[in-house]
Amino acid sequence: MPPYGEFIFGHEYAGDVVARGRTVDEFQIGDRVVVEAHMGCRRCENCIRGLYTACLNYGNRARGHRANGFTTNGGLAEYAVNHVNTLYRVPDGVSYEEATVVMTSGSPLFGLENAGGYFAGETVAVLGPGPIGLMAIQLVRALGATRVLLTGTRASRLEVGRKLGADVIIDSRATDPVPAVLEATQGKGADLVIDCAGGDETFDQSIRMAKPGGKVLLVAFYHRPVTADVSCAVRRNITIYTERGEGRTSVGRALALLAAGRLTAKPLITHRFPLGRIHEAIDVLEKRTGDPLKVVLNP
Ligand SMILES: [Zn+2]
Repeated sequence: MPPYGEFIFGHEYAGDVVARGRTVDEFQIGDRVVVEAHMGCRRCENCIRGLYTACLNYGNRARGHRANGFTTNGGLAEYAVNHVNTLYRVPDGVSYEEATVVMTSGSPLFGLENAGGYFAGETVAVLGPGPIGLMAIQLVRALGATRVLLTGTRASRLEVGRKLGADVIIDSRATDPVPAVLEATQGKGADLVIDCAGGDETFDQSIRMAKPGGKVLLVAFYHRPVTADVSCAVRRNITIYTERGEGRTSVGRALALLAAGRLTAKPLITHRFPLGRIHEAIDVLEKRTGDPLKVVLNP
């Protein structure tokens, strides 16, 4: 990322189309739209292959790459410029708030696609009941998983996870989550483990709670380099997947799931502020006042 001050941040946003480029006829003035952050350069080999969130010109504005809110102006700018391929029309009956929050599910949905995208009858363990983990629970349910185990430390978030489809809740402060997952799966481990926590130990835990031959999907960003028993993954033939951002139009597809009632965003919105109180909103997030999940700013 370029340093703060060179662009205006905010990568999850929705709004109205107020102006169009000369050739744009996909959208009308006044359309309600939500965005995805990444627009690839459309000239590197990854973009040509469809891997635009892993663009080889990432951050290079001169070559046309934009990641709004990360490298170019995002949702807190008075007006944001979006390429048409980063916009999705918000369906009737879906609010701006919900549309904004659904963008959170773009990354786990892209990761799940990378990890095979089909989990019929499978058991999935999700580490970390933050907004991404809570979306991941719903997404794997929609993709056929029949059993979801959720591990985390904050009781209020674990409870939201239960309401959104987790069958087994494991408080990882009270109990070691690895034996707990093994016990809940008759010693086999989970078919798929999704690390949405990014803690010092969660990558290692993910490997050790996956079934031999199973999969681990890393969605979280880790705060610092972490250690893990990687040989355990090699010995047990575990495949590790990652994702970068909300590739393959995942935001649009998540929005369709939301409109169809297969995904809900409302339980993730814990705080709302008018734009004029943005400092208070950021303070709530930073100090975790009132255990925030998603804090929405409304102009
Ligand atoms: Zn590119």
